[in-house]
Amino acid sequence: AEKILQIRNLTTGFLTDQGVAKATDRVSMDLEKGQTLCVVGESGSGKSVTALSVMRLIDFAGGVIIDGQMLFNGEDLVRKSQNDMLRIRGNMITMIFQDPISALNPVFTVGEQIAETLRIHKRMGKKEAWLQSVDMLYRVGIPDPEMRAKQYPYEMSGGMCQRVVIAMALACNPELLIADEPTTALDVTVQAQILDLLKQLKQEFGMSMLLITHDMGVAAEVADRIAVMYAGAVVEEGTVQEIFEQPRHPYTIGLLQSIPGLHSKRGGELYTIKGAIPPISRIPSGCRFHPRCPHVMDICRKEEPPLKSSLSGHIAACWLDETGGMDKGRNEPNLQ
Ligand code: SF4
Ligand code: MG
Repeated sequence: AEKILQIRNLTTGFLTDQGVAKATDRVSMDLEKGQTLCVVGESGSGKSVTALSVMRLIDFAGGVIIDGQMLFNGEDLVRKSQNDMLRIRGNMITMIFQDPISALNPVFTVGEQIAETLRIHKRMGKKEAWLQSVDMLYRVGIPDPEMRAKQYPYEMSGGMCQRVVIAMALACNPELLIADEPTTALDVTVQAQILDLLKQLKQEFGMSMLLITHDMGVAAEVADRIAVMYAGAVVEEGTVQEIFEQPRHPYTIGLLQSIPGLHSKRGGELYTIKGAIPPISRIPSGCRFHPRCPHVMDICRKEEPPLKSSLSGHIAACWLDETGGMDKGRNEPNLQ
């Protein structure tokens, strides 16, 4: 299938007192056209840095792209000028964030804000842009859109504001939508509605989606493929079925066990992975997960486990996986 986005060995960093600390280390992932790739991990795993890199907004957040490629429809975004990126960000790749309120301007009505986007990026006239913005509000499921278009963000609920932000992001019909924790700030019922909306709009607009979340439950709802990140690196990647039914990395297994009501006993205590994600200035030697891993072995402390791919493209980096310890009884051959 055709790939809309191919991230290859993306290494990024931030300048610290001790020199450059890597925020992502040789991160690779693929997104097929029309699909949703979820990047999952705890906060501090490098998910947002990866997303900001694709947008080339990392440059404005104090970070640098040290190495790697990000092919968008075959063109390397790493090599684009910020001028080119302005056009790409407006028309082809758009991004939404966790907090819809701060993404909206409090002094303009929501209709004006969507219309403004259309006037800038699609060079629409005032009237046309306004009508189009009302139509966008309708398409994101906002009732009475003519009236709502004339309201200010503070007159709307958080869920309604996130719908407005989505309307703004999709107004110019982007090929790729990047959503960074789009439902985290919302309460549970609204969260489910927004995820449903994103799934529906992805179909309607024929776009692809890169969705960042700390929540495996969210990934289960929307993902075609899942990339699990830990401390700046991808530790496992596969289809949603592979990740949920045949997880190969202990970190992934820990994330799955911490989903309420899925792998934990109802009413029982929720499993949490012991310890905390290390700061980027102090990434552990060998396997970066080793200080927290319940299966740690000697080799894990010294040598970094290579990413191994199965024939189906299910990838994981774990020494235990190589020895067959994580999936005895399954004799799918490992490549390389
Ligand atoms: Fe655990 Fe070792 Fe696998 Fe790392 S390589 S996840 S420490 S078993
Ligand atoms: Mg984040």
